[in-house]
Amino acid sequence: MSNFKHESPWLHYSENKRQPKTLTENTSANIAVVGAGIAGISTAYFLLKHTSIPKIVLLEGSLAAHGASGHNGGFLATYFERSFRDLVSEFGLELAADGQKEFDSAWELLDEILLDTQINLPVHKFTGYTGIQTLEQTIGFLEDNRLKAQVGLGLEPLLIANNVDWLNQIPKQYEPFYALSSHEDILDLLQSKNAKYLALLQGQKGVANSAVLCESLVSCLIDRYKSRFEIFEHTKVDEIILEQDSAILRTANGFSLSAEKVVLCTNGFENFKIDNRAGEELDHKFHYLVRGIVGYMAGYLEQSVVAPAEISYLPAGKSHPRPDVFEDEAYFYLTRRPVEHHNEEHTLVCLGGPEELLEDSTSYKHELQYPDFALDQFNDFIESTYQLKKRDKLEYQFLWHGLMGFTPNGVRLIGPEPYNQILHYNLGCNGVGLLPSIYGARKIARFMAGEKLKPSIFDPKR
Ligand SMILES: Cc1cc2nc3c(=O)[nH]c(=O)nc-3n(C[C@H](O)[C@H](O)[C@H](O)COP(=O)(O)OP(=O)(O)OC[C@H]3O[C@@H](n4cnc5c(N)ncnc54)[C@H](O)[C@@H]3O)c2cc1C
Repeated sequence: MSNFKHESPWLHYSENKRQPKTLTENTSANIAVVGAGIAGISTAYFLLKHTSIPKIVLLEGSLAAHGASGHNGGFLATYFERSFRDLVSEFGLELAADGQKEFDSAWELLDEILLDTQINLPVHKFTGYTGIQTLEQTIGFLEDNRLKAQVGLGLEPLLIANNVDWLNQIPKQYEPFYALSSHEDILDLLQSKNAKYLALLQGQKGVANSAVLCESLVSCLIDRYKSRFEIFEHTKVDEIILEQDSAILRTANGFSLSAEKVVLCTNGFENFKIDNRAGEELDHKFHYLVRGIVGYMAGYLEQSVVAPAEISYLPAGKSHPRPDVFEDEAYFYLTRRPVEHHNEEHTLVCLGGPEELLEDSTSYKHELQYPDFALDQFNDFIESTYQLKKRDKLEYQFLWHGLMGFTPNGVRLIGPEPYNQILHYNLGCNGVGLLPSIYGARKIARFMAGEKLKPSIFDPKR
């Protein structure tokens, strides 16, 4: 086992000047938001900005941004870790398209937050690439594009190497959705030396430090909404008691918060009991909604400053990043971005990919040791695939891991709990969750403002 350096770059480069406040007496609020990651903080932000609800209280068991929002891969994207064609077969074309459009709207919501709050957060937006190896993968993505074109969704164009021997096996109907290029150019764009990559998919991506976003947004909310907003950290919720018209949240330090509504933004973890006294039992059901997967990350610094990037590399057997989240092998991905390190400009390169399913996600801690198998996999990946600049030995400055909550169908839950509408969810990171959390936050504010929203793929169901 390696010695785990307990630090993610996002927390390392984030400055928290606040003194965290813990709940020390019983209190009340109109809305209690549980969990101060990107989902909970942006939910509080949109509730404060877009409704006149008098009091929002945010409860966090640890510190703001110290969950997955401080321990992720750090790229911005709005894709599902399920293919579009899969979503269409589960929900139908119209609902699947609406879901994708709703997620895509999060780019604008992020811009809205940054413009409105004047938070100084560098966000780099660019075209990201996904490396593809096989005809089957290629046809899958082409079919996604064909379906998206039918409903006016933005397409993710494909580039295919002009020397592949399966070119004439691509059905004619997909011709509008790809272009040909030299194999060399494709490998160049993928920054790969692995000649098995024969095609690539292009899509809008970005990079930003989500811990800085969370921390800056919390500070802004505290300043801006002095009488309407409070955050209590190191205040873990142990039990949520749901009545007909209200809820009581009991904390591990022995206090309680009464609220008219509760929004769970806990990424998905069952660190509390839910007692529904106004309808069907739902504690048991909730706990089966989300499963935890630990994702391992590693980061190193390059001295030269190069363009920001996000590149994913699909193994040959995958038809999409994650057709079956619990069975399938992981895909590797990397991001690059400029950072200031010891007062000098560097490029931070972060690698992600190795994963482990946790049967009991309550056992997860960020301090858990970093396993050697993850480092071995990164080294193999660099050896086989990434065009690393020549150097004697790769030294990782950052090694970290985080917990992802996966819903059974890989789709986020946003909205009221059908068995008791006092309770709402904005959770289920499903691998790609930064922009989706922000989208969910805006939608929760619309629910709370009393808007009647049309059915969506994100509606919690029983
Ligand atoms: C390794 C890894 C890589 C990832 N890479 C990317 C990526 O590149 N791009 C992307 O978009 N997404 C990525 N994600 C997903 C993304 O990080 C998450 O979707 C997002 O951060 C989730 O935000 P959240 O607010 O829902 O959860 P969190 O940030 O985990 O916040 C939940 C908070 O709830 C608190 N909490 C839980 N239970 C209680 C309780 N009982 N009482 C009080 N508080 C409680 C926790 O302490 C925590 O702070 C990655 C995730 C991981 C783990």
